[in-house]
Parts: sequence; C-alpha cells; structure tokens
Amino acid sequence: MNKATASRPLLDVKSLKKYFPIEAGFLKRVSGFVKAVDDVSLYVNEGETLGLVGESGCGKTTFGRCVLRAIEPTEGQVYFRRSDDTVVDIARLDKVELKELRKEVQMIFQDPYSSLDPRMTILNIVGEPIKSNKIAAGKELEERVKELMSVVGLEVKHLKRYPHAFSGGQRQRIGIARALAANPKLIVADEPVSALDVSVQAQILNLLQDLQQEYHLTYLFVAHDLSVIEHISDRVAVMYVGKIVEMAETAELFSHPKHPYTEALLSAAPQPDPEHKMNRIILPGEVANPADPPSGCYFHPRCLYDKKICRREAPVWEEIAPDHFAACHFAREFELRGD
Ligand code: SF4
Repeated sequence: MNKATASRPLLDVKSLKKYFPIEAGFLKRVSGFVKAVDDVSLYVNEGETLGLVGESGCGKTTFGRCVLRAIEPTEGQVYFRRSDDTVVDIARLDKVELKELRKEVQMIFQDPYSSLDPRMTILNIVGEPIKSNKIAAGKELEERVKELMSVVGLEVKHLKRYPHAFSGGQRQRIGIARALAANPKLIVADEPVSALDVSVQAQILNLLQDLQQEYHLTYLFVAHDLSVIEHISDRVAVMYVGKIVEMAETAELFSHPKHPYTEALLSAAPQPDPEHKMNRIILPGEVANPADPPSGCYFHPRCLYDKKICRREAPVWEEIAPDHFAACHFAREFELRGD
C-alpha cells in the first residue's frame, strides 16, 4: 500500500477561491476579477507529498499561500488536522488562532537569496520560530538550532555567520532548518529548488525526502519542473488557469495522462533521448488570462484535440480510473502519450 492510501488527510481543501479585484478609473470601481484560484478541492494525506504542477501563472503559488493564509482566500475551506487530532478550518481562524497554528504549518520559499534576512545570523534566523513559539530560550534554544543545523547538513560552527557567507544550496538548507524549527506537520514548499543548480537540486530533494521519513512530514510541493515533481511526489495535481485539471498517483499520471494539458507538459519536459525531442508537443500561446478566461474548457485555444463542445461547455471533474481524476470531455476516450 502506498502512503497516499495508507493514511488519512492532514489537509483537505474544499472549493478554494482566490479572486483579486480589478479596479478601474478614478473611483477605483471593481470592473472584474483575476480568478487566480478558482474552486480548487484537493487533499494531502499524512506523510505523503502532493506535487502541484503547472506553467508559470497557473495559480499554484497563490494556492499554496492561501492554504497557509499568507494571503486571504476569497472563499472555501482549508481543513487541517492538528497534532491533538482536532480539525480546524485554516480559512476561518482568527489572528491568535492562526499564530498558534503556525507551529504546525510552515513554508519553504523559492528564493534562498531573498527569503533570509541578511542582517540576521543563522542562530537568529533558525532560532526565531523557536523563540516566538516559546519552545525554548537561551542555551536550550542555541542547542536546538545546532541540532537543526546538523539535521540539514550544515556545520554547527557557522552558527554566528550571516546568510551572504553561504552558497545557494546552503541557504536553502537554512530555510529548511527554519521551517523545521517549530516541529511542523505540514510544509508547503514553493518551488524550493528552482533557483538552484541541477546538482544541488538533487541534494536538496533527497534531504527533503530524508526529513519526511524522519519527522513524518507532509508536503504540498509546488513546482513547474516535472522531473522534480516526479522525483518527490506520491501524487500529482496539475493546475491550469486556477483550476485542477488532472490528479492521480505519480506513476499513473506520468504513464497514463488523461488530460491533453498533462500530455503536453510531459512531452515538453527535457529528455536526453533525441527521438523524444522530435515528438514534442509544442503548446501554442500562453496560459489563458485568469481575468478573462476562454469559454468552455479553458484549455481549448491551446488543445490539440479540441472539438465544438470544448468551446461551449466546461468539462466536469470526474474519476476516470481508480484515484485518477481529470476534467476533459474526452478523458475516457483518449489514449494520450505518457512519459
Ligand atoms: Fe482539450 Fe476539449 Fe479536453 Fe479541453 S475538454 S482538454 S479542449 S479535448
């Protein structure tokens, strides 16, 4: 049994929406909305990694931030199972409750260069969540920071150094140590390796996997790179213009995609095989504008298989095979190319 089916949801997101108002004119009247996240429902089981993938501008980062309430969702529920087994709706917590929850839900950011305060030492950066959550102070706090540094593979003697003294990979390790400092259950990782060299990416991904085993962590892992997503995820959700268009276990999604957008993403992923290059699907155009999406299926202007109905009717989200969901009128008929 894999991790996805072996446990219960830690995070259960229902119909989440994030609409940014478009203000126009002198009076700043609301003339429309950018529907960055539009009615997204998904769950992440305890101890698993759900990869959230899509092109830049598809809404995946906004979704991750709404889950953590780093930005306020417009509508929807974000149910989270706390350490004491109670379930709270993160979207409804007040400020005090939210601060209390921060111990259990943490974020790792994309850019290890800008996410660390250059004026703070590593001791202060990693120690800050320990201090603010009143987990430890003084000598005990320092010992905890040293322990976290060795857990993420950094030398303890560098405790009093500032971020500029570290490489990109080391800075991301510091970011990971800070995220771990308050013993979280869920980590939202937003493109955590995309700013790093390929060789360093593999090290950080392996570190995240080791930490997941050791601390029974659950990851919502946001990335645009399919090879990264394949490496780390138990299940994958594919996002397009604010909506999830396909979701399945990783091997199933990569070998038997049911949505043409997933097929195109897979075909565009870099491969060493020159024959593969010749069979690439070149997606025409850009991700549709979430302020003015196309009619029917949002993907139809770029889809190789679109038919009349695709322009007229939005496809229904349905289970095509066990635990394999897609939103495409022809998902049951297509034999699409996998990885
Ligand atoms: Fe393509 Fe139509 Fe399926 Fe949309 S519904 S992905 S346009 S075939």
